[in-house]
Amino acid sequence: MNVLKFGGTSVATASAMGQVKDIIEKTNGSVVVLSACGGVTNRLLEAVRLAGNGQVSESAHIIQEIELRHLDLCRDLILDGESRWDAISKIKTVCVELRVFCEGVALLGECTPRSIDTAGSFGERLSTLIFWLYCRSEGMNTILFDAREIMRTDSNFTSAKINFNELQRLTTEKLIPLLTDNTTVITQGFIGADSRGITTTLGRGGSDLSAALIGAALSAHEILIYTDVSGIASADPRIIPSAKPIPEMSFAEARELSFYGAKVLHPETILPAVERGIPVRVLNTFAPDEAGTVIVSEATREHGICAVTLKRNCVCVTSHGLTFADAVAFLGRIANYTSEVYSAVIGESKCFAVIDTPKDTTALENLTNGAPSNTSIQEVTLLCGVGIGLNGHIATKFSESVSNFSPFAILYGASDVGIIALLPPQSADDALRAVHQIIE
Ligand code: ASP
Ligand code: MG
Repeated sequence: MNVLKFGGTSVATASAMGQVKDIIEKTNGSVVVLSACGGVTNRLLEAVRLAGNGQVSESAHIIQEIELRHLDLCRDLILDGESRWDAISKIKTVCVELRVFCEGVALLGECTPRSIDTAGSFGERLSTLIFWLYCRSEGMNTILFDAREIMRTDSNFTSAKINFNELQRLTTEKLIPLLTDNTTVITQGFIGADSRGITTTLGRGGSDLSAALIGAALSAHEILIYTDVSGIASADPRIIPSAKPIPEMSFAEARELSFYGAKVLHPETILPAVERGIPVRVLNTFAPDEAGTVIVSEATREHGICAVTLKRNCVCVTSHGLTFADAVAFLGRIANYTSEVYSAVIGESKCFAVIDTPKDTTALENLTNGAPSNTSIQEVTLLCGVGIGLNGHIATKFSESVSNFSPFAILYGASDVGIIALLPPQSADDALRAVHQIIE
């Protein structure tokens, strides 16, 4: 049993949906989790916000645009006349529900988080409906399954948390019986329902999490996340055009890479699967034969750095000559000031922390009690080499490769899966190229 998830760009157009169908046939997809067609969720949220402001005609205009977009998909995808008419009428019915809902919000004159979730859910409801009708018209054995039947969440609208025990119970009761030979179940990412059956969402970009949760509840053999890039690259291809996907990486590495700036999928979203030993493969809908990247709990590949990333727009806040206790208090105040501390070090003569560049640095300058002149603030870019088995030999090679780029500090040993260099922003790209050479 496998779970396939396709993001917004994979279902944005008729030709993309055609690719998705081919992939499902080739991989014998058991459960397919879809996002809304690219851009639709944003438009829905805009429509409901306008409705809440009383801007009824602007809201209706957006709904009209969403309806037309989905009707066009029906026309492009479903060739048989009768099936096409059936699809068009089904889409129109859902859009009537959406229109009436937004009119209701306009009457109330307020757009609550609960309303936002109901409106937002229409994107996935429409994309799965069309895709299912399309697969059916092509003779595939598919079932459309409403994710709200199993995705039981709390009532924390717009970022609801799943009740995994309930998900597992409901999956066993309602989803597993549908998964007989050769049937593909198509369902929505992102959406759920609370114990009263009211629609919730898991938060923006929540479809990956949906796929991981459903995969975990099913004890799937693997989860395939299809996006528009071929896995997780060894570096940002805009800086290193030759960067290649990393065949296999551990969850800890993926998390480190994302923490230090790489635009990989949000690793936390796949944690429910990785924790249960289910591999998560990141693949490309538009190049499905490329191997992509598999994320596992423990990587088995050869030790070393596999990827390098830059965290830009940081500052390093340094204080000199503090006692250990004062240094701890100083770093504590920095942590109170911002939730994102990328590294913090206490040495004998100085201590420092690296954080996102704040809009205004005056508050930071006053963080050293009594002696603000002791604090200095410097713009830095963090370069993080991510890998496993990072021994002294690897750290030496890393240090040598960044040595020409005036690093302020190199942090080895602070993380099991990363070595970090603090660099002047202007030399960071060149340093990244140099580090990438040692992993090629
Ligand atoms: N459609 C939702 C969003 O745009 C969920 C997702 O795509 O993962 O946030
Ligand atoms: Mg998305």
